[in-house]
Parts: sequence; structure tokens; C-alpha cells
Amino acid sequence: MFENLQNKLDKAFKTLKGQGRITEINVAATIKEVRRALTDADVNYKVAKDVTDRVKQKALDRKVLIAVEPGQLFVKIVQEELTELMGTEAKQINLKGDPAVILIAGLQGSGKTTFSGKLAAYIKKQGKNVLLVAADIYRPAAIDQLKVLGEQVGVEVFSEPENKNAVSIVTNALAHAKRTNKKVVIVDTAGRLAVDEAMMQEIENVKKALNPTETLFVVDSMTGQDAVNTAKTFNERLDFDGVVLTKLDGDSRGGAALSIRAVVNKPIKFMSTGEKMDALDIFYPDRMASRILG
Ligand code: GDP
Repeated sequence: MFENLQNKLDKAFKTLKGQGRITEINVAATIKEVRRALTDADVNYKVAKDVTDRVKQKALDRKVLIAVEPGQLFVKIVQEELTELMGTEAKQINLKGDPAVILIAGLQGSGKTTFSGKLAAYIKKQGKNVLLVAADIYRPAAIDQLKVLGEQVGVEVFSEPENKNAVSIVTNALAHAKRTNKKVVIVDTAGRLAVDEAMMQEIENVKKALNPTETLFVVDSMTGQDAVNTAKTFNERLDFDGVVLTKLDGDSRGGAALSIRAVVNKPIKFMSTGEKMDALDIFYPDRMASRILG
């Protein structure tokens, strides 16, 4: 995960960490290299600039040049800034409600259905009775996929393959959940290959009908700045509560992870690191920053 970024930051820190004399000039050069490493990782340009400006200011304030361990202090400052950039603290999902309703949104292929299965398993482990709902009215295969995952994790899947009205499906699903005493309902929605008006309108209607406890936006971290732009568009329409970053196991750059919170101002709540049902973790900004800095 994030190997390219790790290597570049490591190289940037070399002069400061090594034996060489620390001067204002090589601190400035390192800051420039850090910014370059971030933009190469597909971090939003403005985000990269703001972060490195803050690093510079902190380096001045804490007198990096005359510190006993200038290199270490500098890396610590970068670590603090990256942690803050990704949200500082882990944010949990809200499972209050009877039942709590979690709406899952995102583009097709982002990993929505896989995540829905994982989340169901994660919540079931907490001893809660969960219902998965297949609300994709365009792709029958998506319903089958969710059914397979539901079976795998031992969670009931609600679907109405003949019903072509997403709002009516989720309304029926909610009634079923109440009848069968489910505590959490996870609704996997339809995704298209690109953002389009009909899809946005449909999911807005679904959200209105469900009044969910939590709306999560799922995005493929490997798509970098595209992920950030898609997040912006979804957020404008859905005002979601959190982001789920998927496919981090294949992301060598880290641009989406580092920019999405700053650009959209919504926390990253989960990270997905594989296709298996247990490859799901809560997103901890500080751990992620430590990982990036090696
Ligand atoms: P959806 O169209 O948004 O529902 O996406 P899917 O859940 O069907 O996922 C699309 C593909 O990505 C599938 O082949 C998944 O197995 C795969 N996938 C999902 N999440 C991850 C992940 O975290 N890591 C990896 N490597 N693959 C994933």
C-alpha cells in the first residue's frame, strides 16, 4: 500500500536525516520534494500546497534548524500534518435506530456490493440482527452477487427482482426488517460507470424514502483524483456521512486517501483491503500517516 509515495517521501527526508549539514536551503528543498511526492501520488494540488505550507510554518516555529534531531523533528511534523489531513481521529458509524438504516452509494465497480457484505459481517459480529437489501434495479447479476455474499456471511438478503422501482423496493425492505426484528438494514444501491443525472435522482429519492441513519459513499482509492471528484459530486447531491475507501491493497499512490477528507470535508470511516469478507478495517488517520512515513 502506498509504496510509491513511501519511497519518494523517504528520499525527500534523506538529506535531513543523514549526516549532512542542515540549512534553510535544504529544508526548503525537502519541503519542495515532499510537495512533489504528494502531487505525484495524485494528491489534489491545493491540498498538497496547503499541507506543505503548514509543514514549513511548523518547521520554522519549532526551530527545526537548531533542533537536536532536525531530521526526526521534520518527519514528525509531516506526520502530524498528514494525520490531520486525513481527519485526525477515527469516526465510527452510527448504528442507533430501530432499525438503523445504512445506505451505500457509489459508482459501479467501486466495491459497493463487496463492502455491503463485509459491513454486514462486521455488524453481525457485534451481535446485531442484520438485513441486506439489493436495490439495484438494472443489473440482476448484482442481486445474485449480494445473495452469494449474504449466504457466505450468514445474513438474510432482501430482493424483489421483478420490481423496477428502487423506492418501492427499499420501502418494502424496511417493512420486512421491522416485521422480522432486524436491528440494522444495509441497502446496496445501483451504481453506474459514470455519474449521471438519472442515477443521482434515483438515489436521492431512495435516500428520502429511507431517511437513513448513515449514508456511506464507496470509492475505489486507485482512481486518485477521479475518486475525489466523484466524491464531491455525490456529496453535493446526497450529503453523505462518511467515505469507504476500497482496493487500498492495490493502491501504490495514496492520492485519494490523502485528499478526499480535505476536499469533501467528510470523514473516511472504513478501508477495504481485499476481496475477502474479513478485509475491512476502521480507518485510523494516525495509523495511516505512520504507515505512509514507514
Ligand atoms: P460494485 O459494482 O460497486 O458493487 O463493486 P463490487 O463489489 O462488485 O466490486 C468490484 C470488484 O472489485 C470485484 O471484483 C471485487 O471483488 C473487487 N473488490 C472490491 N473491494 C476490493 C478491495 O478492497 N480490494 C480488491 N483487491 N478488490 C476489491
